[in-house]
Amino acid sequence: MRLKNSKIIVIKIGSSLLVDGKKNIRKKWLSSFAKDICKLKSKNKKIIIVSSGAIALGCKKMNYNKTSLKLDQSQAIASIGQIELMNLFSQIFLKFKLNISQILLTLDDTEERRRSINAKRTLENLFKLDYIPVVNENDTIATSEIKFGDNDRLASRVAQITNADTLILLSDVDGLYTKNPKKFKDAKLIREVRDFKEIKNVNIKGITQFGSGGMNTKIEAAKICNLAGCDMVIANGLNLNPITQIEKNNSSTWFISKITKLHARKKWIISSISPKGELIIDDGAKKALASGKSLLAAGIKKVSGKFNKGDHIKILDIKRKEFARGLSSFSSEEINKILGYHSNEIQKILGYVSKSEVVHKDDMVEV
Ligand code: GLU
Repeated sequence: MRLKNSKIIVIKIGSSLLVDGKKNIRKKWLSSFAKDICKLKSKNKKIIIVSSGAIALGCKKMNYNKTSLKLDQSQAIASIGQIELMNLFSQIFLKFKLNISQILLTLDDTEERRRSINAKRTLENLFKLDYIPVVNENDTIATSEIKFGDNDRLASRVAQITNADTLILLSDVDGLYTKNPKKFKDAKLIREVRDFKEIKNVNIKGITQFGSGGMNTKIEAAKICNLAGCDMVIANGLNLNPITQIEKNNSSTWFISKITKLHARKKWIISSISPKGELIIDDGAKKALASGKSLLAAGIKKVSGKFNKGDHIKILDIKRKEFARGLSSFSSEEINKILGYHSNEIQKILGYVSKSEVVHKDDMVEV
């Protein structure tokens, strides 16, 4: 599913595309981007923009350096910069008769099922009103433990929630290289990834002055997208008309999803950003899960992490390889008491009536 066939497209813009190294706003670039959006819309595509830049623009306005900001300072700066960011978008997009709206999300808005459904509805209603949602993390209230921290993963979660076909990550690099292209001349661009095993030895950190995501967060984002059945492309957005460039030049990295049919709820489960814990299960339970059964306490060997009933968890086999993800029907504390026991002993051990499956098959997806 390349751009031509994509109906819903999420486009993430990194801060370095909006503000250059000399802290100048790249208005000409944003106009050329808006022109590209008009083209996509004329082909009836639904667009969501995830834009960084609140902190970069806040720093510009206040004449601060991002690297010297503490978390609480950057929250205030983001609050100042977010309005600058939206002003910039509305100024330029209006010239192209494009309507925009603002959505600020925190991690919990995507990790809690009910809130993620709410966000999805709002985004869909904005499509109906012919508005382009411009999403950013709600940096002003998100503290480190409830933060995405980078807009790459936020964008991938937005893509998953909205059932998007493609996520475009526009940054200041062409894509994923075999080595760091800034250091090694013989680095080669990887044009397509269909299996993450192919790139397990590639590890590039490319932190720019304003953005917070390096190549690692982009690969994490690709995993989230691909698991949810959405393709992702990392492309260099620095040139004018960055979306047209992707279609014209074959010099970006596409991550192609193998997953096509998965229920929306299962997509949401599998692409959780922050599973709270892990369950290690024995081979018998692994076999049962592979044949579509639920996970019972008897097959659990070990629990790690602290989590509550309903939280996202990873299920690992005895060799610690991730095998599935799911929503736990018990807290980690409860599982520690009941692991290894037969389901009909649970009530006696805990002293109250509870479910008999630790992770129900409907709440679980194999990875
Ligand atoms: N949300 C941050 C901002 O708007 C940017 C995060 C990122 O660069 O990924 O400034």
